[in-house]
Amino acid sequence: MRIIEETQLDFDDLLISPKRSTLNSRSEVELSRTFEWKDINGNKQSLTCIPIIVANMATIGTPRIAKIVSKHGLMCALEKHYPFEVLDELYTDLENIALAEGLSKNFYSQKVMPSIGVKEDVDIIKHLNDKHPLKCICIDVPNGYIPRFIDRINEIAKICPQAMLICGNVVTGDICQDIILHGHGIVAKTGIGQGSACITRSKTGVGRPQASTIIECADACHQVGGFCCSDGGCKTVGDIGKAFGCGADFVMLGGMFAGCEEAEGETVYIDNKPHKLFYGMSSNLAQERHFGGRRASSTSEGREKYIPITGSIEDVIKDIKGGLNSLMTYIGARKLKDIPKCCTFFKVNSQLNLKFANCKDFKNN
Ligand code: 5GP
Repeated sequence: MRIIEETQLDFDDLLISPKRSTLNSRSEVELSRTFEWKDINGNKQSLTCIPIIVANMATIGTPRIAKIVSKHGLMCALEKHYPFEVLDELYTDLENIALAEGLSKNFYSQKVMPSIGVKEDVDIIKHLNDKHPLKCICIDVPNGYIPRFIDRINEIAKICPQAMLICGNVVTGDICQDIILHGHGIVAKTGIGQGSACITRSKTGVGRPQASTIIECADACHQVGGFCCSDGGCKTVGDIGKAFGCGADFVMLGGMFAGCEEAEGETVYIDNKPHKLFYGMSSNLAQERHFGGRRASSTSEGREKYIPITGSIEDVIKDIKGGLNSLMTYIGARKLKDIPKCCTFFKVNSQLNLKFANCKDFKNN
């Protein structure tokens, strides 16, 4: 047994210091970033996007959401269990829309990724890639420390050598480097127990505060030529900025998109206010709906919640873009990639003035 004494930090333990800036206005900053890497055959590959990813969760990792967010430059990881026909139709639609607008065929589709775990059949990814060469794929398991995870990364890398592989989840630098050194164009997806629909910490005692996870993992990833995705734990737009500030190249969000009108599922009225069902992918509900029931040896590690609908997804995207533009102006970061270089954090004991937090909102009351 060993205890790591250093205090582990979450987004709530940090605030970003403003800095002298050469920027005069929010319009001078650039949220879009081009990632470049060499594939297994030594060919240069690239992906251009605003590196914020809708999580591959059942109500939001959907074709409908993928179409909207990719139009706005963001990315979407599709939930694992879509059949080939649905994925084929989505990629064909995205390609046709791009061509009709005079853009390159994969302008929108490169921002949308299918997901696969260790149990699912690789045939769907294989057939999809044959028809629509994929720019990125999410290889997603709850516990990225199992040996079969690395085997799966190798298997997918052989089928889709040109694709960026976003693989997780892990929370320590050693395993990030293992993953990255096993392939080309690898992004280590980091975060365990921090998700808004996650109860892994109370069920297993396992997890790590997200800011410390990113700080260690991003450093480890960059050292060996890979990228780092922070997955989960963002409750506010400020948290997204902090995740980039800690060194994340990509930020994946579930709960922040789950209350949008376009999320899948019926609208239910609770106290006359519209709500949607949002559930963790290892909740009992997800296991029943998508995985053919829970195995006797496992337990639920996910919440099943009715959450308030907060508006359209375009409002959420606008809010995220506006907040990041403003953060970058505060710290003098012209490009998204510059945020960590320009970021100095204060370690804090409190964050927000909550004096009026329990009062009725002007809107939706
Ligand atoms: P959020 O942005 O909502 O805080 O976190 C989203 C992330 O939570 C997802 O991308 C995924 O990594 C994680 N997640 C989703 N469902 C579950 C679940 O049922 N259990 C656990 N432990 N994590 C989940």
